[in-house]
Amino acid sequence: MVYVSKIELRGFKSFGNKKTVLPLSPGLTAIVGPNGCGKSNVIEAFSFVLGQLSAKTMRAEKFSDLIFNGGNGGRAAPFAEVSLYLDNSRGELPVDAKTVKISRRVSRNGKCAYWINNKRVPRQRVIELLGGIISSAGGYNFIMQGDVDRFIKMSSLERRRIVDDMAGVAEFDEKKEKAISELEKVESHLQTMKAALGEIERQMESLRSQRDDAIRFKELKKQLEEARASLLFTRRDSHRRKISKLQEKLDRENELLGGLREKREKLEADREKLEKEEEKLTKFIEKEGSSGLTTVQKLSERLHTLRETLILTRERYMSLEERAKDLGERIKKISEELERRGDLRALTELSSEFSRLRRSFDELAKRFEEEKSPLAIKEILSELRGVLSRMHSIIDEVNIQLKKVLFEEMKPPREKIENKIEELRELRAEHRVLVKQQRELEEMINEFERKIKETRKSLEVAKMSEKETKKSIRDARKKRQKLQVKLSQVKNRILQISDKIDGVKDRLESYRVEKAGLEAELKMLESEWEKLKNKAPEKPMTNVYNLERRIRKIESELEALEPVNMKAPQEYEMTKRRYNSERERYDKLVSEKQALMDFMEEIERKKTEVFMETFDKISKNFTKIFETLSPGGTAELVLENPNAPLEGGLEIEARPAGKRVLRADAMSGGEKALTAVAFIFALQRVKPATIYVMDEIDAHLDPQNLKRVAKMLKESSKKSQTIVATLRDPVMSAADRLFGVNMDKNGESHIVSVELTGTK
Ligand code: ATP
Ligand code: MG
Repeated sequence: MVYVSKIELRGFKSFGNKKTVLPLSPGLTAIVGPNGCGKSNVIEAFSFVLGQLSAKTMRAEKFSDLIFNGGNGGRAAPFAEVSLYLDNSRGELPVDAKTVKISRRVSRNGKCAYWINNKRVPRQRVIELLGGIISSAGGYNFIMQGDVDRFIKMSSLERRRIVDDMAGVAEFDEKKEKAISELEKVESHLQTMKAALGEIERQMESLRSQRDDAIRFKELKKQLEEARASLLFTRRDSHRRKISKLQEKLDRENELLGGLREKREKLEADREKLEKEEEKLTKFIEKEGSSGLTTVQKLSERLHTLRETLILTRERYMSLEERAKDLGERIKKISEELERRGDLRALTELSSEFSRLRRSFDELAKRFEEEKSPLAIKEILSELRGVLSRMHSIIDEVNIQLKKVLFEEMKPPREKIENKIEELRELRAEHRVLVKQQRELEEMINEFERKIKETRKSLEVAKMSEKETKKSIRDARKKRQKLQVKLSQVKNRILQISDKIDGVKDRLESYRVEKAGLEAELKMLESEWEKLKNKAPEKPMTNVYNLERRIRKIESELEALEPVNMKAPQEYEMTKRRYNSERERYDKLVSEKQALMDFMEEIERKKTEVFMETFDKISKNFTKIFETLSPGGTAELVLENPNAPLEGGLEIEARPAGKRVLRADAMSGGEKALTAVAFIFALQRVKPATIYVMDEIDAHLDPQNLKRVAKMLKESSKKSQTIVATLRDPVMSAADRLFGVNMDKNGESHIVSVELTGTK
């Protein structure tokens, strides 16, 4: 077992600059000496070297106050240093040395340094090295002077914590803390994941409805395609039927048209024939009418010309005759005059003839008024002209005769005669010419008369033929009229048939147009059908009205659904998968959390268990020790919260002999010391410390109690090396080794070793 084999002090408090060595051994060591000699300083040296962090615990303001101040005028130490030698011959300390030397030095500047086997180390290294073996300074195995009732004064919770330490609860707490920090991590992770899950859930929720929409949309699209295909199917069939019906109608109408055309052609032929006949008749009528009339007219005109010419010729003849006659008469007169100088007889004759002409003129004038026939009128006029002309010539003759008579009377007779003879000669020559001309005219007249006769005959014939022609024209006209009636009937018929044909054509055209339209539509329907036929249901609906209504309904439903996220089903599945994996992680984390909580509970349970185990032991020991130390009295450790011991404190209830139960703070100094010592021993019995360092724990004890405590100290020091500072004999007597301390007049403490081992 490890034990302190030596402690060296140098410049520590009242111990001067020279090294002070206390060789130690297991068992009970007592440090003795008068008041103020420096016992407590030795005790504090243990505390110092083991890493005490509170200068005040060592009754110093600051660490540098721990350095020897020179005492009463001596030289102050440059530093204070304490070394503790531990026997490690059994190798309990993890240092490869039989002896482990722990050193601590404080310099004037108050800075501390540690060494393990003269090797500079940080304080922590010292604590770690000794922690398991020697409780650190300030633990329950270190009791400074006047501090024995610390266990009485301390709070119940502090007291319970001592048990915690003994039981090693800290280990559990550490585990628990780790678990808690783990749990916190898990918890925060869980929160993050929960938020993420919530977000994904919301996404999923939205995607689910989007997915439902997309599925519905797809279904509706399919239905729409089916309905459209069905409609197309139905329409296509109906178009086909309509087209074939129209074709039948077209065939019928074409047949009808053919018949009508044939009929019209026949009628046209009839009409042509009739028209030709009519034309022939018209030509005949025109030709005959005009030619017939022309012949008669020509002949009439010729006859008229001939007559005129005859008349003129006759007039001329007559005038020639007159002239001749006149000439003859003149010749006669001149002859007579020549013979007998003049004669009034001629005038008388002229007068009678004039009267005669006058009568015939009146007659002709009367006839002219009455006559109607143009030919007769012409003849009358011609005769009148002849009469008038004769009348004029008579007047001229009369004038001549009168002049002659008058002339004859004025002219000298001689000249007259010669002239007359000459004149007579001329007249006779003229007369001969005239006669000759007269004869020629006579011949001409005869010729004319013959021609007139001829012409008359021809005219007769012409008139006859004209009559005949007129009859035949009349007949022809009648015939033509009949023909025309017939023709107009035929034409009417043709018109009627043409109208009918036009009607048929119109119908044909409208059928064709309708058919072409339907065929074009059918073509479109067929091509659409090609596209959609595989979408058509096996037994398509054929009611167009219902289909259209259905399509409209689907379309409006589709429209209401839009806009549709068609990727929603995949997105939903993806999100769902993500959710599931996240959920899995989350659940895993939850179970991790649960495991941690279970673990913590388990820790807590174990902790309590361990605590209770330790507590029970301590408690039992305590009661037993107390009863030993204070015969007749009793004491116990009471948990403030037995149900959750680690949540409450630990009370000490003591009942010294003959007294009521006392609360710790109600006890006397001695009672407190006794109880505290009993508590320390109880602890020690459960888990003995390597070393106990105690400063005057016996101060308030009465001799009886002191004896029992000294005995117990002796007993306990067998298990744990115990170093006590004391002024009391029973304790000194119980000690295995005594060190006397004294202080010289310079205020420097010195050790006086008094080895007592084996003496008692
Ligand atoms: P008691 O029996 O009364 O408890 P003691 O033996 O325990 O006395 P200590 O308390 O150890 O005596 O010694 C106290 C003495 O140590 C005082 O006289 C004091 O002057 C002295 N002392 C304390 N610190 C120093 C220091 N830094 N330098 C020199 N002397 C010091
Ligand atoms: Mg003292």
